[in-house]
Amino acid sequence: MVRVRLAPSPTGTLHIGTARTAVFNWLFARNQKGQFLLRIEDTDKERSKPEFTANILEGLSWLGIDWDEDPTIQSKRVNEHRAAIQTLLDRGLAYRCYASEEELATMREVQKAENRAPRYDNRHRQLTTEQEASFQAEGREAVIRFLIDDGEDIHWRDLVRGPMHWRGADLGGDMVIARRAPADQIGDPLYNLVVVVDDAAMAITHVIRGEDHIANTAKQLLLYQALELTAPTFAHTPLILNAEGRKLSKRDGVTSINEFRSMGYTAEAIANYMTLLGWSVPEGMDERFTLMQAAEVFSFDRVNKAGARFDWDKLNWLNAQVLHGLTSQQLLNDLSPLWLEQGWSLPEDVNWSLALCELLGPSLTLLKDGIDQAEPFFTCPELEDDGLKQLEADRAKQAIGELVQSLENDPWDGHDTSKAQELLTNAASKAGVKKGVLMKSLRAALLGRLQGPDLITTWSLLARVGQDLPRLKRCFT
Ligand code: GLU
Repeated sequence: MVRVRLAPSPTGTLHIGTARTAVFNWLFARNQKGQFLLRIEDTDKERSKPEFTANILEGLSWLGIDWDEDPTIQSKRVNEHRAAIQTLLDRGLAYRCYASEEELATMREVQKAENRAPRYDNRHRQLTTEQEASFQAEGREAVIRFLIDDGEDIHWRDLVRGPMHWRGADLGGDMVIARRAPADQIGDPLYNLVVVVDDAAMAITHVIRGEDHIANTAKQLLLYQALELTAPTFAHTPLILNAEGRKLSKRDGVTSINEFRSMGYTAEAIANYMTLLGWSVPEGMDERFTLMQAAEVFSFDRVNKAGARFDWDKLNWLNAQVLHGLTSQQLLNDLSPLWLEQGWSLPEDVNWSLALCELLGPSLTLLKDGIDQAEPFFTCPELEDDGLKQLEADRAKQAIGELVQSLENDPWDGHDTSKAQELLTNAASKAGVKKGVLMKSLRAALLGRLQGPDLITTWSLLARVGQDLPRLKRCFT
């Protein structure tokens, strides 16, 4: 059975890169009828916060990503991690390194001056018992390092990138697997070690993560070997790049799923877009899909090796598609909380709100466009320059005056729109203007400007809540 996992560190809110990794893991798991698990990598005690864990879980749920089993909490498994380190020490595959931070800094400076890549020079790999004893007598603490021979040849077949090859010499020397601690203890276990121990314990069959982890994979494969554990299959997904082709980072502004959400993007569009960031749809399939639809056909041979450039236009297009596909009721469910947040009160007649959603829906790109566009239906907008200019046009106000008079004699409740047409025709002819002129002026009077949605529907909605006449009358004050 395929078992994959997302292993977020709860040191920040759900990041788009993590969410995209989650999507690929989930798609593969669901495609393979396997399981998608979560592991909260909270071993960085200072930076990990429970509210970030909550945010990550909530964000995944919002995106439509569900997981199997309770999340594994990495910090609770520290005994297993330490046991694995002890095994490596016992097997002579790991050792204590007493080199101080200053000594290591000096070592790196020398390397730099000689134009060599910085690496640990394995200086404490073969300390004698006497040397160890004298470091301990000095009161030095030690990190624990895992032996990486320069001559190691590490090979794996990556599901995205094909055959991969890494040399031990390029891994920076013997790797620290436990933080500095008194020499009779094992300090805090570190990332590469704990990931291997946990992935093995969770029976993970496929590790799917960003390509920034490729060097870690090489190191982890050596650890699997040393601990006599079966290594999973690896798939390294392409990075998300900004418009300039560099790795998307905090500097690019929006990177947290929260932020996309508060900008008015729907979960469906974000999930859809993240899938397209690195995966191309099979021929004949629409680029607009649900995660479930993508899961049915997902495979790694359609995951690109090259980085995926973030394209706002495409995301906006997808979001608009999603919004345009919603029923008025669904749109109302999403929009009414935003409207209430503005302090607007919705009329009792829910059909009015539904009709407003039907009117605005087709022109929305972001959900929050539904705030700006609905505003003139809840509060009377100021007359803007273009609106004022229109009302000053020849006999424009006269025509509005005729309309006001007809409405005062025979009020229109906004329901029968053929009546609206009739009212317009009559008022225009009485004032001696073209109907088009009156319609433009009516829009100016009702909305304050010349742009806006369908005029008759707009008028009808305002008439239903008794807001048309006051707006027409204000043109004369
Ligand atoms: N906690 C690591 C991260 O967030 C997990 C990487 C992995 O999937 O192994 O980058």
